[in-house]
Amino acid sequence: MRKFNKPKIIYSTCLTSEPVRYDGGIIRDAFALKLKEFCEVITVCPEISIGLGVPRDKIILYVEENRIKVYQPKTGLDLTNKMLDFSEDFLGKLPEVDGFLLKSKSPSCGLSNTMIYKDKEGKIFHSKGIGLFAHKVLEKFPNIPAEDEGRLRNPEIRERFLTRIFVLADLRILKERPPKIRDLIEFHQNNKYLLMAYSQKHLKELGNLLANQTKYSFEELIEKYTIFFREALSVIPKRGNHTNVIFHIYGYFSKKLKEGEKNHFLYLLNLYRKAKINLRPIIEILKSWAYRFDDQYLLNQTYLNPYPDELTHIE
Ligand code: SF4
Repeated sequence: MRKFNKPKIIYSTCLTSEPVRYDGGIIRDAFALKLKEFCEVITVCPEISIGLGVPRDKIILYVEENRIKVYQPKTGLDLTNKMLDFSEDFLGKLPEVDGFLLKSKSPSCGLSNTMIYKDKEGKIFHSKGIGLFAHKVLEKFPNIPAEDEGRLRNPEIRERFLTRIFVLADLRILKERPPKIRDLIEFHQNNKYLLMAYSQKHLKELGNLLANQTKYSFEELIEKYTIFFREALSVIPKRGNHTNVIFHIYGYFSKKLKEGEKNHFLYLLNLYRKAKINLRPIIEILKSWAYRFDDQYLLNQTYLNPYPDELTHIE
């Protein structure tokens, strides 16, 4: 059975219910607070870090000569360079991390729905985009999961985020131990169906890399493996790919199941294919069969056990 390592996650400080918002308000996001219990959390509040206090006058984003600028209308301060310098410095000094959970809509942290204006006063709407700190996160960590609490209300986005941070934590911790090739091979085997769902191409490339392991030192091998693995998990898996993987796993049990069980399962799978239900009920059925038939190989697959069960149902 999979033992979960703690993902190392960068949180917007306000998502930990610290009163750092411009108005001193507190955010209680049930999912962010629950997830925090399962993670090693590093917090950051870019606005406090550039010297703005609590409470503070609002800052906004606006466009000037095709550049996004940060401005505080009440004081007339242009904070663009301060924010960019802080972001470069903070992100450049981070250890290896497994993900970012940032605050939506914020001119600093927002990964979605941040208001951008045409004017310095923030009166004329230009577009919705992302905050300046968040922009730097995406630029510097292109294949590391980064979401905001708003986007994580979508069950599919949440499922993918959780899956990725927990498996990246496994890989990071494997690298922190004294290097052993057999650990990496076992990791690859346990992620076979996950990789198959995300990207067949990467599954093949990673397999080839391990088959040619003697060409590299262990450090080179694991470095290359990490790059390809992160890239694989950056692909948004299609329902067709998941259906294919589910059929593969179903094949382990189909001869041992009763007709009614098979029909019910295939009915649910068809609903999933048509986007009428999400993946979770299907995975739960496969997992219960893996327990019933004591299939250790499948029970070790991250595909069937992507993250702790306690994170499954949080509103
Ligand atoms: S959204 Fe970011 S900058 Fe704003 S209070 Fe939260 S952590 Fe600080």
